[in-house]
Amino acid sequence: MNYFSGQAGNSIEATLPFSILETVKRHCQENLNPFKAEWEKAGQAPLHEIFKDLATYKLLGIQKDVKVGGQGMSYQTHLEFAEALGHCTCPSINLAVGVQTDIATPALAKYGSTELVDNFLKPSINGDLVACMGASEPGAGSDLSHCSTKAVIEGDDLVINGSKMWTTNGAQADWMCLLCQTNNKHPILNKALICVPLHTKGVVRSQKLKKIGFKASDTTMFFFDDVRVPARFIIGNNKRGLIYQMEAFQEERLWVSATGLVPMERSLNTVVEYLSSRPGRKNPELDFQHKLFEASLLSAEIATLRAALKTATGSDFPSIASNSVVSRLKLQAGRLQRRVFNWCCKVLPVNHPDWLTCHQHLLDCRLVSIAGGSDEVMMSFIGKELLKNSTQA
Ligand SMILES: Cc1cc2nc3c(=O)[nH]c(=O)nc-3n(C[C@H](O)[C@H](O)[C@H](O)COP(=O)(O)OP(=O)(O)OC[C@H]3O[C@@H](n4cnc5c(N)ncnc54)[C@H](O)[C@@H]3O)c2cc1C
Repeated sequence: MNYFSGQAGNSIEATLPFSILETVKRHCQENLNPFKAEWEKAGQAPLHEIFKDLATYKLLGIQKDVKVGGQGMSYQTHLEFAEALGHCTCPSINLAVGVQTDIATPALAKYGSTELVDNFLKPSINGDLVACMGASEPGAGSDLSHCSTKAVIEGDDLVINGSKMWTTNGAQADWMCLLCQTNNKHPILNKALICVPLHTKGVVRSQKLKKIGFKASDTTMFFFDDVRVPARFIIGNNKRGLIYQMEAFQEERLWVSATGLVPMERSLNTVVEYLSSRPGRKNPELDFQHKLFEASLLSAEIATLRAALKTATGSDFPSIASNSVVSRLKLQAGRLQRRVFNWCCKVLPVNHPDWLTCHQHLLDCRLVSIAGGSDEVMMSFIGKELLKNSTQA
């Protein structure tokens, strides 16, 4: 049965016969960047069209198994796509794509039944459906064990009541990967991930929320009022939803880290170009040596982060060892982005044509230190690990 009749497509072939970097960069320059201002003014971008275009290049399931409609390639290759998408000057698109590929769908790809894969995952990989993730609630963000939206089994159905907050892609999404409490009292093993078609009776989405960053990203709240979906729409085990989502957070952390690399380099280049082209500069290396050294240090840190992301997604990814590295890299990525964009805003004069872009990046990059676990959450993971290792040494 197709729950979105006429929309789901067939599996796609398993080859990418082109350079991801060159193709994505050109696609960004020709088909995405020219529309940034228009989409930011509208508060949303046409995600169905954008995802369909990316899917024609087979980019929305690079790392996913061929059996579930993906390309069966490595996570490292998928990360090349994330980095290349940094050439899109509208970061809301990178966020929207990340939700589709790395936040709402990893658990479904790994644990979903054939029915769920056919009806939700394959059409999302093919760009026919837009997905969103419903995890955060007004009282449950960093600590999702407090999530209080409930799904109660009634016969063959689930009846869902509650609300979700900060849902990226919310105004346009066709389905949600919803984190819900089930009946069990255990604080962790009492949650399920459920595929919820968003046209179902009782689902209410709010107007788009106003934000200071990611202006072309449609973020909404959702309310669930006796929403009834088949109980077989639960992904995998009905008690392990939170654990599945914790696993998916690793991919989200890598995505937000990798998509920031190119914008950081672009902003640094802008500053260096500005400094070297100021009138009266005869010997740039000496005339603004201090600033050039600062740019060099930041550039070295960006290169180190890029290399570390590649190493962390090597052949053993995902593993306990790679998880521990990913938490550290995400922490570093958020803090490095803040330093780079802050420095660029400080050095560029406010009337420089790219100052506003740097400033917008500075606002947007706060999300890297919030999404997929805040900096403090990363620090508490790392701290616990350090304590454990010190007692074992
Ligand atoms: C633009 C945007 C898009 C988003 N998209 C989605 C989405 O699509 N789907 C979704 O489910 N959610 C989404 N979110 C929500 C996001 O995941 C949460 O904002 C995040 O998990 C933090 O939760 P919170 O906002 O409730 O803050 P809180 O968890 O209340 O944190 C507030 C502050 O307390 C700190 N803190 C938290 N825990 C600790 C601790 N243990 N020790 C010390 N300090 C701590 C945090 O670092 C933070 O500074 C989005 C958020 C934004 C801003």
